[in-house]
Order: sequence, then C-alpha cells, then structure tokens
Amino acid sequence: MSEETNEEKINLLDLSAEGLKFLFNEMGEKPFRATQVLKWIHQYGVDDFDEMTNVSKALRERLKKVAEIKGPEVLEQHISDDGTVKWALRLNCGQAIETVFIPEKNRGTLCVSSQIGCVVDCSFCSTGAQGFNRNLSLAEIIGQVWFAMRYFGSAKVTGERKISNVVMMGMGEPLLNFKPVTQAMALLLDDNAYGLSKRRVTLSTSGIIPALDQLLDHVDVALALSLHAPNDELRDILVPVNKKYPIKDLLHSVQNYLDKSAAAKKVTVEYVMIDGVNDDIKYARQLAKILKGIPNKINLIPFNPFPNNDYRTSREETMRRFENELQSHGMIVTRRKTRGDDIDAACGQLVGQVNDRTRKEERKYKKSIKIQEIST
Ligand code: SAH
Ligand code: SF4
Repeated sequence: MSEETNEEKINLLDLSAEGLKFLFNEMGEKPFRATQVLKWIHQYGVDDFDEMTNVSKALRERLKKVAEIKGPEVLEQHISDDGTVKWALRLNCGQAIETVFIPEKNRGTLCVSSQIGCVVDCSFCSTGAQGFNRNLSLAEIIGQVWFAMRYFGSAKVTGERKISNVVMMGMGEPLLNFKPVTQAMALLLDDNAYGLSKRRVTLSTSGIIPALDQLLDHVDVALALSLHAPNDELRDILVPVNKKYPIKDLLHSVQNYLDKSAAAKKVTVEYVMIDGVNDDIKYARQLAKILKGIPNKINLIPFNPFPNNDYRTSREETMRRFENELQSHGMIVTRRKTRGDDIDAACGQLVGQVNDRTRKEERKYKKSIKIQEIST
C-alpha cells in the first residue's frame, strides 16, 4: 500500500481485529504487531503512536504516515447527582450523538448509540420522532466506548473497571446497522480489546427478524426485546415495524436465538408503561400468556415524556398492579429506575438534534396542510 502523507489517513478505530491484521499484512508486518496495537488502542485508550512503547520506532513512524486514532469530540457533558454522566459527542459530519454512563452498585453501564435518528419511528420514542439521518460507522460506535474508557481511565492503568456493561440502547435500531454494530460488539468481547463478558454486552432491538436470525453467526451477546405490547393490533401502533415482523414470528426468532446462544439464557422484555395505552391489566395477562415457555424477564419502563408527544407515564398504582399481575403468573419483573433525571439522561430516550433525511417534518407539514385544505 502507498504510504503517501497526502492521502486520507485510516482511522484505526474503524477497523475490527481482523481489519487491523489485514492492514498490517498489507504493510508487510506480522499479525502479532496488529494485536499489540489493538491492545494499545482499546485496552489503554492510546491515540498517540509514540506511546506504543513495545512497537518499534520505525513501525510507529510508518503508522503515523498512513493511520490515525481519532475518537469523537465532546460537545456537552452533564453529570447527574446520582453519578450518571451524559455526553453529547460531535461526529466528523458535525452531527451529535449521545452516550450515557449509568453507575450502579456492582456495575457501570454504558449506553451506546448505533444510528443518528431511527427509521422505526416508535410512537413513544424521541429518537424516532426526530427521523433518520444515517448509520454510525464502526469508529463512531466503538469510539463512544473508547472515549468513555479514556474519560474514566483505562482499567489497565487504574486497576478499576468502570465500564463493566455495554447496552446498545442509545439512539437508533442496532439491527438496522448490522455490520458496524456486530463488529463493535466483537471488539467489546475481544480479550485483546475491551474483554467484557458476553452476558454483559446487550443488544436491544425492536425486532428486525432477518437480522436477528443472523446475529449468532457474527456475535453472541445478551438480548433485549422492545416488545411494549402483547398483541399485534396494539404493537402495530406503538412499534410500526411490527406490521412487517409480527409478534408470533418475532418470538419464534427470539426462542431460536436463546436456544443457540451461550450469552443469552433469557431475553429481557422491555415494556414502556404508557398511561391508558398499554397499561391495562388485561395486557399483563396477555403478556404472560404469549411469553409462556420463553425464558424471560420483564423490564417495566416508566414512559419518559418529551416535547410534542401526548403520551403520559402510567400512574404508580397502575404500574404496581400490572407488575403484581405478571408476578402472579410466575413472571420475573423488574422496574427500571429512572436515572439521571436531573440531566434528562435515561437510556433510550436521548434527545438530540437529528438532521432528518427522511423529511419526516416536511411530510407531516404537507399532511397537515392537506387536512386543513379538506376541512376548509
Ligand atoms: N432501537 C432499539 C434500541 C434503542 S431504544 C430498541 O428499540 O430496542 C432503547 C430502549 O428505550 C427501548 O426499549 C425503547 O423502547 C426505550 N424507550 C424509547 N423511548 C422511550 C421513552 N420515551 N420512555 C421510556 N423508554 C423509552
Ligand atoms: Fe428506534 Fe428503538 Fe426508538 Fe423504536 S424505540 S424509534 S426502534 S430507537
């Protein structure tokens, strides 16, 4: 390969472990050199080739000519009273994504975005409401973890692993950005990179069946399913992609995944509690029924309100009754605590400014003009 300085440099955050080995092979270097560099980047958070002390000076100089290690830039940082940290990170294109760190007693969870916006357009989701701009690259996805690790200090240096869990629950539908997402998760599991346990890396999906069916061919991680409704009629409204991939087929795919996965013994079923929409006690009964036989735990999430959306959070008493009903059917139920409330940082409801390419607002506007025309 050419080592001209005027060519655009390769961002090494954009390479999988195999990609890095391929690059080194092209440069006539041995595979173990690639592993050394992989460790410097993802275990130590290094972005300066001169800090790679076990790499020869000559190789460092060659690398400097063709490559760089370039993470996202911080636009904003908010630290909540409960220790939750939310970052707005600026990407090269000028758009921002959000990443959240949630500390708990025995773990620290990083909530990572996979797309700018989301096409699935769930009726209760602020990301969906903003439309879709583009997929994130591998560098942009793993860059969020790399950045947060540098912020807290590498466990190799501090002796403390601050980020023990990663969930793909930020902006976007991870299974609609399959390759970079699976490559990023592979780096999270790789002992030469982040070395997380596969049970501590979770992919959350609205249910893109063909991609879910292929996931285990690429990576084995824990699974969360954004179900939110126990029947197709209701789910078609809340999670529109349900019209394409209905509940019965989706649960069949989930069961297949659990059968083959070593990481996911149970699926975490996410259920956003929306007042008067999906919180009737009959839905708890239906939910228990459809999940029968599928190892699961249900996570009830109080709906988080956001501007220009009319839904309200279920009342406390309704949530308790719903939870009790599920438990009376032998279900395991947890209630998501709302974290980082003071900085609006709850995972999966990150409000950013997406430059919408689907022209959703424009379509909405045109629709409203038509309605006005009809009614006048
Ligand atoms: N697209 C994926 C992952 C990102 S969304 C998915 O849908 O699973 C992550 C989680 O946040 C999902 O369970 C989603 O349903 C939830 N969520 C989205 N908007 C929310 C809101 N306004 N209040 C509470 N939870 C919300
Ligand atoms: Fe997309 Fe998930 Fe939001 Fe639905 S809940 S619009 S799938 S990010």
